[in-house]
Formats: sequence, C-alpha cells, structure tokens
Amino acid sequence: MTATPNRPVYLDCHATTPVDPRVLAAMRPWWEDNFANPASIEHAMGRAAEEAVEEARGYVADLICADAREIILTSGATEANNLAIKGAARFAASQGTDRRRVITFATEHKCVLESVRDLAAEGFEPVILPVDGKGLADLDALRAAIDHRTLLVSVMAVNNEIGVIQDLAAIGAIAKEAGALFHTDAAQAAGRIPLDVEEIRADLLSLSGHKVYGPKGIGALYVRRRPRVRLAPLFSGGGQERGLRSGTLAAPLVVGFGEACRIAAIEGLLDAGRIAGQRDRFLAALSAAVPGLAVNAPGGEKVTGNLSLAFPGGVTAQAIMEAAPMVCVSTGSACSSAEVEPSYVLRAIGLDESRARATLRIGIGRFTSPADVDLAAAMLADAWAKASSGTGRAAE
Ligand SMILES: *Cc1c(COP(=O)(O)O)cnc(C)c1O
Repeated sequence: MTATPNRPVYLDCHATTPVDPRVLAAMRPWWEDNFANPASIEHAMGRAAEEAVEEARGYVADLICADAREIILTSGATEANNLAIKGAARFAASQGTDRRRVITFATEHKCVLESVRDLAAEGFEPVILPVDGKGLADLDALRAAIDHRTLLVSVMAVNNEIGVIQDLAAIGAIAKEAGALFHTDAAQAAGRIPLDVEEIRADLLSLSGHKVYGPKGIGALYVRRRPRVRLAPLFSGGGQERGLRSGTLAAPLVVGFGEACRIAAIEGLLDAGRIAGQRDRFLAALSAAVPGLAVNAPGGEKVTGNLSLAFPGGVTAQAIMEAAPMVCVSTGSACSSAEVEPSYVLRAIGLDESRARATLRIGIGRFTSPADVDLAAAMLADAWAKASSGTGRAAE
C-alpha cells in the first residue's frame, strides 16, 4: 500500500486552479494600501485604482487578441455566458428581430445550456445539437439547423469534462455565413490554447479568472466592436462597463485577473508542454496498475491537462474517491458533482450509464509536480484494487 501523504494531492484543475503566487502578490496592494473605488476618478486614490484596472483590462484583451475597449468585466464566466446569450437575445428582441433561433450543443456548461433554454420563455427557439464520440460539435447538424432566422450560435472552446478542443474557426465561419452571432465559452481554453477572436470570428467570448490561476469572482465577456455587437444588460445600475455591467469593480480581483492573463500569455504554451509530461507519467503509472483502464473520448484534440478515465471491473468513480480521500479529483463537473445522475457530457458522447459512473476526471495544472502525479496514481490504483475486491471481483 502507498504511504498516506500529509496533505491532499490536487488534480482537479478543471473545477478551479490554484492562485499563482505572482497573482496574489499583484493583488495585495489593492486590498491593503489602496482600497479606492476605481470609478472615484475625482481623487488620486480612485485614479490610481482606475489606472490599475485599465492596465489589467489590457492584459485580458491581449490574451485573446482583442482591444481593451472590447472587454466587459463580470463576476465570472457564468455571468459572462448569461450576458452574452440573454443580452444578445433581449437586445435583438427590442429591435423587433425575426432571428429567433439560438443554437448550442449538448455538452456545453450548464450556464450556457440553461441560458439558451430560458430564452424559450421569451419567444426564442432553443436548439441543442449533438456531438460525436470525441465530443466534437456535429458540423453537419449545425449546417442543417442554421439559417437566416438564427440569432446566435454558442459553442465552448474546450470542454470542462473531457478536454476536447472544438474547431472554432470552422464553427465561426458557419455562423457568420448565416449572419448569426458567434459566442464561445472559453473558460477552459484561455491560457491553454492560443485564442484569437479575429481568427475564430467570435462576436462574444467568455473568460473566468479562477480557471487561469487567477482569483474567483471575476471574469470577462469580450464584445466585438467592429462590427459592433449590441447587448441588453442583465441588470440596472450605475452604468459601469459601458452600461453593460453595473456595479463597483472589484479592483483587487481585476488586477489579479489581469496578472493571471499576462502570465498565461507568456507561459501558457510552456505550461502545456510540461503538463503533457505529467499527464503521460500519471497515465502510464495508473494504467500499469489498473489493467483495462480506458481514456474516454479518444482521438479528438484535447488540452494537455485533461484525462477522463473509465475504470474497469464494475467499480464506480465514487467508490474509488471514497477509498482515496487524499486525492482531489472529480466524477464530473464541479457544479453537478453532488448529483446522483451520471454526467450528461459523458452520456452525450455515447458512454453508457455504467461507464459514465466509472469515470474520474483528472485535471493537471501549472503547479502539479511529478511527485504529485506519482502519489495520486499510486493512491488511486490502491483505491481501485480495494473497491474492486469489495464488489466481489478480484483486482487481478
Ligand atoms: C468554470 C466554467 C464556467 C463557470 O465559470 P465561473 O467563473 O465559475 O462562473 C463556465 N464554463 C466553463 C466551460 C467552465 O469551465
């Protein structure tokens, strides 16, 4: 048996990433020294806070090759996705649009799926299209569903459970050909793959601070200026963020998010290479100890930190996690991990219920060490052996 470590090993970087120490350092003065409201530009402290916020906004924009004026700061990607989808629909409705169809895919994050579904009550027509066994959007289904009455297409850049990278440039081209708006939830993609809003022809793109080694409670929506994309705000107030997102900006969080994006732009590709090494090391060790271990959604291009692993022998992921309490992994997305239902993402890529229930999601990140992956693989292998003997089947 593996010796139990004195602290948990964290391999759940899709749920959230640790705050980079450089991000924490950049934030500190905006908690401790200058607490001013960045909208208080009548005084020196307010102006300094505003300057810091605008510098950070520039770093966020740079990460996706956008202009700083196209970045609307929000509380996170959930809010950004709601603002993109509902804001675009409500603005279009106010202009008396004929475009009523809103298209998305079955493996999107809940906040996209629910935003799209909620629009039915406002006279829109939600369309939720399938993905293939790799988790890739079915482009033929998209071509068949899209027409001149389509308002918006929303497709995530990288899936938060299986890590698959969508062909955004192809999807953007299809959306633009039909004159529809193109939105992408890039919460899991930012800092992991290159993102260029011109190349993918995005009109709207959502980001989250805590998925890029920044703080929780901050994110952004990119809103294209040329040609200008118009949105209705979700709430009323003082008119901050070009009237699209009222409320006092959380200067420390904005500064931290900006620093996280600045670092991601420089180090993202280096991280990806190192993370791929840890992933391979982890998978080799675990596969050697667990014969029949399978990687879900094989074949598609994925972000390097992701492994969606189905365990053999009739053992559930939940049983393995219970037997390996010092390994922090997950059975699916963080938001639905308390649910008894197996992951709708895994079902959508064609996995049966028992395989979905036997699946663990592994998220390796910037600060995952070789020792971390060695320890986690050993503890998970022990847990699987223990749990499978509990099911009455021999571990080997
Ligand atoms: C985490 C995540 C979100 C939600 O982001 P928050 O900033 O936590 O609101 C949305 N979409 C995807 C793909 C995510 O991974």
